[in-house]
Amino acid sequence: MKTWSCIENCGACCRLDLAERSDLTGVLSNKDIVLINSMRNKDGWCKYFDKSKRNCMIYESRPHFCRVNEFTKTFKDYLKNGDKFLIDCCTQHISSIYGRKSKQMKAFRTAVRKK
Ligand code: SF4
Ligand code: SF4
Repeated sequence: MKTWSCIENCGACCRLDLAERSDLTGVLSNKDIVLINSMRNKDGWCKYFDKSKRNCMIYESRPHFCRVNEFTKTFKDYLKNGDKFLIDCCTQHISSIYGRKSKQMKAFRTAVRKK
């Protein structure tokens, strides 16, 4: 069985368009939504995402909803489907941002197979 794993230099989930994030429906508080909207640049990316290095500039103090490993484990879909849910979410994000044949997708597939 595949085990979810985040990969370095991805950040596909740092594009903060809530209209494209059906996985977050019903799990964010109003305070979270206000914070997300304040973090989003006009191009849809988080203002703390370094696009050249593809990493988070505030990694140690990032908000709770950015801590995928902890935050998503309270989701109903995670409780029902476990890591498959997380893998499907990342696959969707990576595919829509970088493409199905991107190096990020290849790295992600390798990472979830290795665990
Ligand atoms: S999309 Fe998934 S693999 Fe990529 S940074 Fe986000 S959690 Fe990590
Ligand atoms: S705070 Fe960091 S981890 Fe969270 S969306 Fe922004 S760049 Fe990504």
